[in-house]
This record gives sequence, structure tokens and C-alpha cells, in this order.
Amino acid sequence: MAHQSELLLRNGDVRVFDDDRTVAESVLFRGDRIAAVGSTDDVESAADDPRVVDLDGRTVLPGFNDAHTHILSVGIQLIETDLSEADDREQALAMLSENARDTADGNWVLGFGYDESTWPEGDRSYLSRAELDGVTETNPVAVTRVDGHTVSLNSEALEKVDFEGVEHDVITDEQGDPTGRVVEDAAGRVKIASRPDVEKARRALDAAITRSHELGITSVQTMAGLTAVRDHGNLVQETLQKAWKDDDLTLRVTYYVHASQAASLSDLELAPGFGDEYLRVGGLKTFSDGSLGSRTAKIHGEYADDPSTDGQMVHDGDELEAWFREAARADQQIATHAIGGQAIDIVLDRYEAVLDEYEIEEPRLRVEHVELATDEALDRFADHDIVASMQPNFLQWSKPDGLYEARLGTDALPTNNRFRDIDGADVPLAFGSDKMPPGPLYGIHHATNSEYDPQRLDVDRAIAAYTRGAAYAEHAEEFKGTLEPGKLADAVVLGRDPFEHRAEIEEIDVELTIVGGEVVYEGS
Ligand SMILES: [Zn+2]
Repeated sequence: MAHQSELLLRNGDVRVFDDDRTVAESVLFRGDRIAAVGSTDDVESAADDPRVVDLDGRTVLPGFNDAHTHILSVGIQLIETDLSEADDREQALAMLSENARDTADGNWVLGFGYDESTWPEGDRSYLSRAELDGVTETNPVAVTRVDGHTVSLNSEALEKVDFEGVEHDVITDEQGDPTGRVVEDAAGRVKIASRPDVEKARRALDAAITRSHELGITSVQTMAGLTAVRDHGNLVQETLQKAWKDDDLTLRVTYYVHASQAASLSDLELAPGFGDEYLRVGGLKTFSDGSLGSRTAKIHGEYADDPSTDGQMVHDGDELEAWFREAARADQQIATHAIGGQAIDIVLDRYEAVLDEYEIEEPRLRVEHVELATDEALDRFADHDIVASMQPNFLQWSKPDGLYEARLGTDALPTNNRFRDIDGADVPLAFGSDKMPPGPLYGIHHATNSEYDPQRLDVDRAIAAYTRGAAYAEHAEEFKGTLEPGKLADAVVLGRDPFEHRAEIEEIDVELTIVGGEVVYEGS
């Protein structure tokens, strides 16, 4: 028998996350699988010639699985200007100016992740064309808000992008002049115009993989964005497949293709979950509404800070249902973005119509975000085993004086992102980050430390949603999500036990990340 490498983690708290929530002392990886888990004596006697890591009481969890991210965007944000750390607009503009100084004339200057809702009071407007003209007049500048639904441009960029047919999403002032802000479909045009070339995309992917490992992430489910680059090839799929072919994909990636590719999926007759343990096709991704930050989530009632609107559908019910049918015919899983209560109800209506018509063995339909689901909606999720794919880190905006209070009013603070209610209603719950920012421990911290009962989960339930729940969401629970023998050897070792340090979970260090039995990250 060929010798397979072994890695033994011993003398710690190995939290298996099986149904019984076994806590073992040691775990043995052989090749890319878990070979044994149990007492140190038993596991050592099962080992042949392992590399040994003494845990010294530290905690081992199944590797985190980010159930909803955009892996290439994570990387592009890392190699371009990351504005998520900017404390105010002055700092954001200074960071962009620095990027502009280093960028050849004519090339795009890109910024990502700005969040004006966290800036000082009186300073919370979107970045404007005039401000960005101050950054540079010789480069197009595009600055994407943290939610991805709003992009601010300078004059050079406004000229460079073709907005034909989507002019309604180019926001103008009272005089009819562009403010520099564009939303939804127009934001998509910006993404197309400023898209990276193949070389840059690969650099971005590599950066995202490294970052994921630092965060203890061993698997991601990457969603086609609002605007898959429809008529320009699919850069994400191309980049992932090239990395996989080169044996450089050391993060397990399941990708959900854009709804516009629904027909190709059924033409190819791909089996559900087609691919291998590193790169798989998850199914179809589409959008119903927009976001709360951009006041485009389709909510029940109206926005507290703009009673003239209740949001907008990106795709209406009929359009959605046509794609759902295409996916159902191809036996592919469907993941639909729905944030507002109205949008969630519309998606459920259309899901039910498709479930009535097609015999799908285990459809495991997904709704992404589910931020404002009603009680009635939760019953429908539970009845049809529909996965609620949610982002606990979104609670960063659900604090007094925060963005959600501004948009939805004070009463909505405890009633958005009701993780505990959803989990308690027997709805399958999966956690991801939507890259705002990526980081499972940051998300778990928010879900376990909320001051509101409907949101606050036990540490166990929050970790479960980021491991076994996420595996279930992608039909991968047979080989991922727990540390049971036979499953993939994907694990994370933490510096402190989150069960004992609930109030400081976001500060816990990731010390080791293991994918397929290989150490891919070792903290210092
Ligand atoms: Zn997303």
C-alpha cells in the first residue's frame, strides 16, 4: 500500500460537530481524509508515522465554509484600494489619491468596500463625482460601496462607461447632472468596463485564497454577482478552472453560475454537484431585489428615511420563475438573493410553483440573505426545507444609530436577521460573509453577541451554521462539515476556545488551517 502522509493533532478539544457534539482529545488525518478521532491513546495507536502537532488544550473545529461569497471580488479588493478601513471620507479620498499616483494615466483606479454609514455624523453621504474628480482627472475612478449595489464615479469614468439602456440607474441631481452615483444595472456596466484581465484575475484569486486560509476558511461557495460579465466570457469560472488545472486551488470552491447561464447548464446536462472535491458547480444564482444600503431591497412598508420607496425588484417574479424552471429541468440547485420581506415572499411563491410542477428528489432550494423574513415566510422555508443562507456579519449595521435603524426604523433593530428565530423554526441555516468583510469568527461573534433575543445564537449553533450548515447548503454534508472519520481532512485550530470566550470571539486567533490534510496556514 502506498504510504500516505499523516498529521496528528493531539491533546486538545477536538470539536467534531457530529450530531452528538462529540468533543475528542485527538484527530488523525491520513492523506486528504480524517482517519480517526477520539482519545489520544486510541488515535495514536491508529497512526503509523504521523507529523505531530501538540494542541496543548487548544480547540479544533471543522474548517469554516463560507456559504456565500464572491471569491474574485475578495481578491480584487485585496490588490486594489480597500476602503473598508477608512474612518471618514477624507481618509477614503486620500487612499484613492495614493492609488491614482501609482496608476498609469488612463487606467482604472478602483476602490471597494466603502461604508459611509460608519463615518461621523453629518458626513454620511455617498462619495460624489466632484470629490472623485478631486482624486484624479486623468484616470477613470470607480468606487464600489460595501454592498456592491452602488458605485461612485468621477467624470472621466462616467464618460468611459456605456450606460445605454440603463440610464435610469445613473443618478442625477435636480439640474439633471450626474451625481457620480450609479446603481444596480448601471453599476454592472461599470464592473464590465473596469473588469480585470486574466493575469490580474489570477493574482486576485491567489490573494483571496491566502486570505481565506488566514481566516480559517477551507471551503467557499462563490456566487455569480449582480452582473456576471455576461457577454464578455466568465472571468470567475475561467480563473478558477485555470487555478484548478494548475493544482493551485488549495481552497475548496463551489460556484453558482449566473441565471443567464441557466440554459447552458441544462444543455450541458451536468450532474448536480458536478466537479471534484476542490471545484464543483453548485447550481444557479439569481437576484430578486437589491440591498438595504441602497434602499433597493423590496421591503414590506416603506423606508423610514425615504417614504417614497419600498425598494425595487431586480428581476420580477415571472423572470425569476422562468429561470427556476430551467434550473429545475436541469436538476440544478437554485440560490436566489432576497433581502426585503416582499422579495422573500415573491421568491417563495415562485419556488412553490416550481416544486409543484417538477419532481425534484432533494431540491434544497436556497434563499440568500433572508434579512427581513416574516413568520409566515419562515414556516414556508421549514415546510419545503429551503436553506436560509445568511450573513451574521450584517449585524454590524444593525446597531443603534446604524444603517439599518436609519433605513428601517428603531423597531426593526431586533427583527432583521433573526438567526435564532430562523434556527428555532427548523429552517436549515447556513452562514457566509458575502465578503463584507470575509471572516467567520467576525460573523460568529456578531451572531452570538447580539443584544436582541431573536438574533442571538448559542456559540454551538453559530459555528454549526458556518460548518455543517454550510456544507448542507451546498449538498456536501456527506464529505464536509464535521470532523468525522471518512470526511475531508479540513480543519482549523484556534488560539482560544470560542465556547469559553464568547464575548471576544472576533479577537480569537486562527493558528492552523488544514485543507485535505495539508497545513495551508500557520499563524505566528
Ligand atoms: Zn453576494
